[in-house]
Amino acid sequence: MTPVLALVGRPNVGKSTLFNRLTRTRDALVADFPGLTRDRKYGQASYREMEYLVIDTGGIHGGEEGIDAEMAGQSLQAIEEADAVLFLVDARAGVTSADEAIAGHLRRLEKPVFLVANKIDGVDADVVTADFYSLALGDVHGIAAAHGRGVNQLLETSMAPFLAELIEEEEPEEEPWPDEVEDDEAEEEPDADRQPFEDMPIKLAIIGRPNVGKSTLTNRILGEERVVVYDMPGTTRDSIYIPMQREEQDYVLIDTAGVRRRGKVSETVEKFSVIKTLQAIEDANVVLLVLDARSGISDQDLSLLGFALNAGRSLVIAVNKWDGLDQVVKDDLKRELDRRLGFIDFARLHFISALHGTGVGHLFESVEEAYSSATKRINTSMLTRILKGAVEDHNPPMIQGRRIKLRYAHAGGYNPPIIVIHGNQLSGLPESYRRYLMNYYRRSLKIMGTPIRIEYREGD
Ligand code: GDP
Ligand code: GDP
Repeated sequence: MTPVLALVGRPNVGKSTLFNRLTRTRDALVADFPGLTRDRKYGQASYREMEYLVIDTGGIHGGEEGIDAEMAGQSLQAIEEADAVLFLVDARAGVTSADEAIAGHLRRLEKPVFLVANKIDGVDADVVTADFYSLALGDVHGIAAAHGRGVNQLLETSMAPFLAELIEEEEPEEEPWPDEVEDDEAEEEPDADRQPFEDMPIKLAIIGRPNVGKSTLTNRILGEERVVVYDMPGTTRDSIYIPMQREEQDYVLIDTAGVRRRGKVSETVEKFSVIKTLQAIEDANVVLLVLDARSGISDQDLSLLGFALNAGRSLVIAVNKWDGLDQVVKDDLKRELDRRLGFIDFARLHFISALHGTGVGHLFESVEEAYSSATKRINTSMLTRILKGAVEDHNPPMIQGRRIKLRYAHAGGYNPPIIVIHGNQLSGLPESYRRYLMNYYRRSLKIMGTPIRIEYREGD
């Protein structure tokens, strides 16, 4: 499961600044779910290829009396969901009573806490950080989040070993590509037909805002006679992983709605959790985003979509509750979908009724298509051939009298497929041409349901 870090501390110590710095590489997205996660920001981050999630708890407010109540509320819940806590203090302000109160709570947690003194710029770092040893939380890491000073060192010395350990506990990842195959067998075997992952279960995460119909859909899928479900225990924070088989294909359904838990554990267990959803996205091969036709598209839907895109996941979108709507409403909604989701042209859109089962079976066709697109084996000669075709059809523009040269392409990874293009003056390649290439590759390779990433490399 993707590790989760919670940023905790008084207001104004620099939590958002650090949050932005940690998540910069992958464009943080803010998920704002009214009533559920007020004041909290969630972001995807990575360090040395290790992916993790960051929650900005939004600050523990106010004076000594308020602190217990606050800790017991929002922030505490974020801390509950996290694997480790980054406790930020203000190096310039010194130890405050609020810091002491927060430290008291954190010391009682059975979780790693990293104590970070921010704003060491322009002061004697050793002197000001020394103060914070009195909080009895171990080492004090001095940083200046605004300038980036000390952040890499914090990541390198504290976070990296911690992340590595958490990630290591996990089952091993899918097998890497068998690299030799490309050279030895490329001639005999048409690459597009190779499906090295076809024996693997497809991990399918069903995500969506509260009440869009995730549980109903999951129950519907599991209730279908052709589905064989294996029993699996679940824990509270995590999604429930349900292995199942459908038409010969193995799946692991990642159930963020907690269907199987219903009735077993108290009903008051929060059904919806952003962290749970984000972890499901990170862990899935294909994300099934459920929208609610009755309530239209909301900013929360777009947030979740953004997280899935950011993670590079294959995607299928189901517009649920399509039953009993009159034609005018349906037409309106389709226009709204076009307008707001037009930018993701690769994902299949399904109109379904989880309640009645209409359209549910067809979802799996798109899920399989997305998965096989994402894991398709593509070889270098094919990618270069397509590149040549694209350039022949439509030359890249001239930059200051010299033509941009696209030389060759090779595969850089899968899930999502990564295509690396080598050439000259690539930084001058206009966005419109990049889009053209993307679409050209998508059409030529018949890739549907998954994003494609194109990386440009200058020179050979
Ligand atoms: P939050 O309330 O804990 O999220 O704090 P913010 O990230 O909003 O930062 C509060 C203020 O501290 C802002 O004015 C930041 O520009 C400033 N700040 C953040 N990091 C640093 C730093 O490393 N050095 C200095 N001097 N100021 C900082
Ligand atoms: P979740 O919070 O996303 O798991 O949503 P639920 O599955 O609990 O569904 C929320 C509500 O929407 C329930 O009252 C369902 O009966 C209703 N619902 C779910 N799917 C459909 C559907 O396809 N059509 C209609 N009309 N209602 C639905």
